[in-house]
Amino acid sequence: MTEKPASVRATRITALRDTQVRPATAPAASAAPQVRPTTEGWTQQKDDEGRPLLQFASPKRGKPPVHLADLTPDERVEKVKELGLPGFRAKQLATHYFTHYTSDPAEMTDLPAAQREEFVAGMLPPLLTEVRRLETDRGDTIKFLWRLHDGALVESVLMRYPGRITLCVSSQAGCGMNCPFCATGQAGLTRNMSTAEIIEQIVRANRLIADGGLGGKKADDHSMERVSNIVFMGMGEPLANYKRVMDAVRVMVAPQPQGLGMSARGITVSTVGLVPAIRKLADEDIPVTFALSLHAPDDELRDELIPVNSRWKVDEALDAARGYFEKTGRRVSIEYALIKDMNDHAWRADLLADKLNARGRGWVHVNPIPLNPTPGSIWTASEKPVQDEFVRRLNDAGIPTTLRDTRGKEIDGACGQLVATTEDEAAAAAMA
Ligand code: SF4
Repeated sequence: MTEKPASVRATRITALRDTQVRPATAPAASAAPQVRPTTEGWTQQKDDEGRPLLQFASPKRGKPPVHLADLTPDERVEKVKELGLPGFRAKQLATHYFTHYTSDPAEMTDLPAAQREEFVAGMLPPLLTEVRRLETDRGDTIKFLWRLHDGALVESVLMRYPGRITLCVSSQAGCGMNCPFCATGQAGLTRNMSTAEIIEQIVRANRLIADGGLGGKKADDHSMERVSNIVFMGMGEPLANYKRVMDAVRVMVAPQPQGLGMSARGITVSTVGLVPAIRKLADEDIPVTFALSLHAPDDELRDELIPVNSRWKVDEALDAARGYFEKTGRRVSIEYALIKDMNDHAWRADLLADKLNARGRGWVHVNPIPLNPTPGSIWTASEKPVQDEFVRRLNDAGIPTTLRDTRGKEIDGACGQLVATTEDEAAAAAMA
């Protein structure tokens, strides 16, 4: 990725921040405990200069089979003709897949019986094998562990909330961003997922919902339900797999039967701050919700907490986020995991508020995310009064701020926590 020249507006912001001083409470920070981010129980891979290794390119591995969801409607027609059937069959097949959420030839009785099996195998090859399913929150949160065609393992988490059903999807097997708190990043990047592998996570979730497999539906509610919201907060850094993620978003928003007919506003693309890709996303003309996982407002801490910060600094990431708002009119979310004595200091709340306000009003919302309490770990939850103070300071500074729900954390499904355990690997091996 190549960086574009900074805009005139960015220059103005730079001027603002050059004169900005740390809030008056900052000197006290030197007396406050400061825990530095380090890995626990594993060793971060380093590059030749001793910095955490960043992997942007996907290692070369066998590609997953081409699937209907990888193709444009025209390409689907071509492929159907190659398989010896008339082009109109492509639309029939798309209807089965995107509307009825099925890849089972037995359910496709409108297709010619003699060629059905072979045709469906050619257009809808199996992509995800379910290895394990964990349920919590009385069945209205479900984590799926999937095995891909080459044995790589990925996960998705399905969550029912009042008035919406959200699926947290993976975009890469593993991740190359090497964040020291993240289970997914430990093993590095296995490979990028294909467009269809991303879409298949949604189709499988929709099928489970249609079959009544997601808890929490009221007995007198007979409405047809399906996934309404997508968050790209599962395994992987979505903007490091830019093309396939954007192709998947296009399939999500394409009207049925050629796509899933979802609203772009219900789709959240998050990133740890790949600035050139954020700018590209702003130019796409698809008004998805954009979330920046910031977790620290100062480069000194963020360089250690989010290694990609060594490439693109806090101010560059915030400028790009503001640029996204200007291009799309969509309010940006700033994700901020509150970690005890590491990034939860009051002066950091003030500094974050200053940096956001320096870029204008009304363009951003902050979501602090309480971490799981983990006794004995440096990666543990902030004290409740500290969380409240952090939120209060931002709100008082005019930045809308709400503590985020951390649904799924009981099953290690909270974002940045998706990783296959050795037990999962064993279960997958036993099925292979
Ligand atoms: S936190 Fe996100 S970007 Fe960082 S290693 Fe984990 S999955 Fe990758």
